[in-house]
Amino acid sequence: MTHRPYTSFNDYLKEKFGQKVYKVSLDAGFDCPNRDGTLAVGGCTYCDEGSRAPGVKPELSIREQLRDGMERMRKRYKAQKFIAYFQAFTNTYDRVDILRKRYFEALDHPDIVGLSVSTRPDTLSAGALDLLDEIGKTYLTWLEIGLQTIHDKTNEKLNRWHTYKQFEQALFKAKQKSHLNICVHLILGLPGESLEEMHQTIDTISGLPIDGLKLHLLHVIKNTKLYEEHLKGEIKVFEEDEYIHLICDVLEKIPSRMIMHRLTGDAAPDKLVAPRWALEKGRILHKIEQEFLRRGTHQGMKAI
Ligand code: SF4
Repeated sequence: MTHRPYTSFNDYLKEKFGQKVYKVSLDAGFDCPNRDGTLAVGGCTYCDEGSRAPGVKPELSIREQLRDGMERMRKRYKAQKFIAYFQAFTNTYDRVDILRKRYFEALDHPDIVGLSVSTRPDTLSAGALDLLDEIGKTYLTWLEIGLQTIHDKTNEKLNRWHTYKQFEQALFKAKQKSHLNICVHLILGLPGESLEEMHQTIDTISGLPIDGLKLHLLHVIKNTKLYEEHLKGEIKVFEEDEYIHLICDVLEKIPSRMIMHRLTGDAAPDKLVAPRWALEKGRILHKIEQEFLRRGTHQGMKAI
């Protein structure tokens, strides 16, 4: 446990590499089965442009995107070491020879110390897992699996079209690989979900062999289906204090061995419609720490 009341991904990287390590987000040109008609069209209701990170230029090659991202971070933070983050769309959704080419293109720089690959649970082939495991022998490798909720009825409403069962199967296959770290993405505040259902997701996930978690809060982003629903008054987003209390409640139940990659969202200011308070990430993280201090608790304190 560091001085923070939760196990932070930044602290974990600092300890591992002796310095701060920065993730460079990439859009490697993959598609998504929820967009190309294989499972659905239009994508998940909250997803805009494959949830690409702000500032990423998909028109550039992977190598150029990486150099562009590293340059920005060097200037802004004096960054020296980086993780190549295949973040936009579904990054295992192609033939293994193509995955190999794209991952290795990103790893081909002396300042890249790791790889993070974000994907859906239903697009993880045995070949993709073998490839990631092979890379994991040389580089720190994180596989990020988007689950969002354990409740299939919510994922149906979101136009996601994978089940919790598929997630469990993917997780247990991935866990057989000894050089892979697994992070799971969850969203708190999904449409139609009660607080009790969110806690059920956290309780279930806390009992699984997962190495890290990324917790998002529901964002309404311009030009999404969710935005249309928001305009009709059908979507409720968290108030700031409500979210801070919830995040502390759930962190108390999440075992401290799970590394927290994220506790809020990261949206582009010109695209985020609601809640706008979520743009002030530094202030929100500070308030979460203050709330833990007030409670005298920390991550995992109530873990079973
Ligand atoms: S699966 Fe991912 S990339 Fe595809 S539509 Fe949903 S959030 Fe976007």
